[in-house]
Amino acid sequence: MAGAFSGAIGSLADSLLGGTFQSQYRCVSCGKITERKIHCDGQETTLVQGYRWVNNDVVNFAASVVGAVAMPLLFL
Ligand SMILES: [Zn+2]
Repeated sequence: MAGAFSGAIGSLADSLLGGTFQSQYRCVSCGKITERKIHCDGQETTLVQGYRWVNNDVVNFAASVVGAVAMPLLFL
């Protein structure tokens, strides 16, 4: 039960953090929004949202930390 709740908090944190801080780039060649820094055969993309150092791995890690921290708080 607590584990499921922790997982739910983790996935909620994942989508919140991902939507807020994760870097999103726009390809200057085709105009698409992407998580990649390089698109369209070596074309560099420009940052349109989030932080350059926040990629999917950072978001996943932060979300699992949030889940792990939130779980003991449930028992206070
Ligand atoms: Zn492109």
